[in-house]
Amino acid sequence: MRLVQDEGVWSPTPASELHAGRDYPGDYAQLLAWFPDDAACADYLEWLRWPQGFVCPRCETGSGWRMADGRFWCERCRRRVSATAGTIFHRTRTPLTVWLAAAWFMTSSKSGVSATTLHRLLGFGSYQTAWTMLHRFRTAMVRPGRDRLAGRVEVDETYVGGVKAGKRGRGALGKVLVAVAVELLDSKGFGRCRLRIIPSAHATVLRHFLLDCVKPGSTVVTDGLVPYPSAVGNVYGHEPFAVAGSGVQAHVALPGTHRVASLVKRWLLGTHHGAVERDHLQAYLDEFAFRFNRRRSEFRGLLFRRLLEQAVRAEPVTYRSLVVDPSPKPETPQAPARRHLRPASLAHEPTLRPWRHHNGLR
Ligand SMILES: [Zn+2]
Repeated sequence: MRLVQDEGVWSPTPASELHAGRDYPGDYAQLLAWFPDDAACADYLEWLRWPQGFVCPRCETGSGWRMADGRFWCERCRRRVSATAGTIFHRTRTPLTVWLAAAWFMTSSKSGVSATTLHRLLGFGSYQTAWTMLHRFRTAMVRPGRDRLAGRVEVDETYVGGVKAGKRGRGALGKVLVAVAVELLDSKGFGRCRLRIIPSAHATVLRHFLLDCVKPGSTVVTDGLVPYPSAVGNVYGHEPFAVAGSGVQAHVALPGTHRVASLVKRWLLGTHHGAVERDHLQAYLDEFAFRFNRRRSEFRGLLFRRLLEQAVRAEPVTYRSLVVDPSPKPETPQAPARRHLRPASLAHEPTLRPWRHHNGLR
């Protein structure tokens, strides 16, 4: 069944056709004005999921009725479906106002946001809720059926982690081998990147990475290491550069992968205080690539939209499926989390300037 493979492929609306203030909030003030309550959030998610109107996720029929509670009733399979059913928001007990605020903080800052910071910003009852929410968004950051890198693509491997243990909150990762691919632009700048944890630098492993991430016919630029010629095979052009003995340093010979690798490492140590664990590293690498590949977006609101657009298409994730050891380590030492407290909704009515009314003074 070849068709099955194509099911997950979809094309987002090109950025040139999207406008700040119409298709996505242009700034924080607009975000607050657009999403005063969960109903407004749900409507935006519904519009992103079904821009042409309701399509049943089970039988793919386009006809149904809206029910009083906002869900749809499929005419054909008689299923009741909400706009968030089967997505990362599936059966969430966290208000959608909080989800959208988290998406905004995650995309509006150049380095994203850590669970510790989000926990403080949004007044979550538990660190765990903030952590799970960010992680669910990370699962939505890899677009199904996304394009592969093309043109001249630099490829290298690097070790991430390996900070010496001993200091609390550090060294949780150990040393993990990561394959890096970066498009080289004619203008000497860099295009998009892909990052993936690999078990070893053997030719077959690197070949899988290339086939998944780089379009056949592209030219692969690597160092002169042994596995590359057979990894590249006759699928790609190959420009090997023998760093050893050339007098040229690796970061000069392979500037793209070295730049991306150092940015990733700095981000993991900075925003996340080096507390990322091996089991979750790939999700963090995906988040880094999501932001890096959209770093030239003029409006941060566009990233917010892209994230939500992918989120309504991503499979639901449960907290249990995310963790092997179900006790996430805080990025910085802190007081024990208060569990079982749901974050308060960020829904709001226009307020009557409370600062003018306290103590009965006006
Ligand atoms: Zn149906």
